[in-house]
Amino acid sequence: MPTPRNGRYAQALEQAVAGVIAETVRIAEIPAPTFREQTRAQYVRGRLEGIGGWDDLHVDSLSNVVAVKRGDPSRTRVLVCAHLDTVFPDEATPVTRERGKLIGRGVGDNSLGVATLLAVASALQTAPPGNTGDVILAANVGEEGLGDLRGVRRLLKDHAGDIDAMIALEGHALNSIQTDAVASLRYEVSVETEGGHSWGAYGRPNAIALLARAIVALEALLPEVGATPKVTMNVGVVRGGRSVNTIAPDAAFELDMRSADVEVLQQLYQRARTAIRNAVGGTGELRMRRIGNRPGGHVEVSAPIIEAVLGARRASGLGAPEFRASSTDANAAVAAGIPATCIGVTTGGEAHTPREWIRTAPIRQGVPYVGRAIAAVAALPSGALTRRAIGR
Ligand SMILES: [Zn+2]
Repeated sequence: MPTPRNGRYAQALEQAVAGVIAETVRIAEIPAPTFREQTRAQYVRGRLEGIGGWDDLHVDSLSNVVAVKRGDPSRTRVLVCAHLDTVFPDEATPVTRERGKLIGRGVGDNSLGVATLLAVASALQTAPPGNTGDVILAANVGEEGLGDLRGVRRLLKDHAGDIDAMIALEGHALNSIQTDAVASLRYEVSVETEGGHSWGAYGRPNAIALLARAIVALEALLPEVGATPKVTMNVGVVRGGRSVNTIAPDAAFELDMRSADVEVLQQLYQRARTAIRNAVGGTGELRMRRIGNRPGGHVEVSAPIIEAVLGARRASGLGAPEFRASSTDANAAVAAGIPATCIGVTTGGEAHTPREWIRTAPIRQGVPYVGRAIAAVAALPSGALTRRAIGR
């Protein structure tokens, strides 16, 4: 697969590396919980404006920031996404630096991804690699949790017919390339009863007890650890009741089910629904409200988009990656029939916790790698990325 050997572009990427750590810190210190990404979005828009030269630069009504650089119509049009949102609350927390690491909420997931998007943006403008199709850079909203990929779904809708490939950037994923998009289904399961005083109305059904039966029933359906294809189920949140001396009139839990195999996921969902209904019986009012539906699919390792990324790894001196099943913005593209993957910039750990950290040294290779990968995919002749590369 051709990797553009444009020396000036490679040099511009190397130069952009210098600012990435400081940029990561600035971005991480602007709070951006899912659904409240506006401030971080405005900051990124300002940075892109500062770089300049875009054929289009705007923030859409969801707060997705979009910068378009038009290219050669005979080449691949690529959408590059780095999500703005974090799983943390709407309060600023400092990032600390110690011995080759950055430590702080969202440093790798995904402040580094956004900072890398900006570094690549700057290289694309100062020394365009040439021979590429349109590059649409997006710092998008709604990747985490209940955001349910709303940002990228909107981008795919707004640019329907204008995109041949999609690349998601995640700070932590330097050593892996996403080839399986893990689908997930999420439900809020709730039970309502009449309730009443725990002494005076004793004997009436208790919503918490009914819900507990449903959770116990799900235990029997838990997929085996190590099953292939992997499939998982988790009750992540439980709430309900009013006071210690009230027969609980309401209770709810949130259920998450995942698999890279969409059929297997559907089967698990059917069985879970039946088990919940049987467990609660006709006593209380049972509701299952879908709160998440992440699509999934598979991209072959031999697909041109993956080969182009592998070429960029080699050109950047990186070793063989792990081909991984994960759940990222790339899922929405894969499910829409667009070849897509997720790649990363460094390594680290403890994502989604206040102790999240990333290694700073690999960023020196990670940023040029990501920049080369984007140019390599965009340099593919249009039509090279066929939908046949995708399985469901
Ligand atoms: Zn992420």
